[in-house]
Amino acid sequence: MWDPFPENKLYQVKPTVGTVGNAAPRKRRDDLVLTRARIGHTYLTHAYLLHGEERPYCIHCDCDVTVSHILVDCYLKTFFEHVDPFLILDFLKESNLYRKF
Ligand SMILES: [Zn+2]
Repeated sequence: MWDPFPENKLYQVKPTVGTVGNAAPRKRRDDLVLTRARIGHTYLTHAYLLHGEERPYCIHCDCDVTVSHILVDCYLKTFFEHVDPFLILDFLKESNLYRKF
């Protein structure tokens, strides 16, 4: 029943039905934060609905704040600005991605 909805935002993070691949975190708060990140509903991104405020806005990127924006778009930009390029290369080599890039 899940397969006809690949455009669903939840399908992007969990295309198959079943348990999450990684072990669940031991702390309740960590589990809650990861679950909220997966479904894209966080206090940061959705509290404006409860408080009748304007939607949060990323002033650095000139766009709405979403979980995808924070973790992929915005963080990726910050990542390449602040992380030592040799650490990035080490990661790519250790994960066998270096030759595939
Ligand atoms: Zn941003």
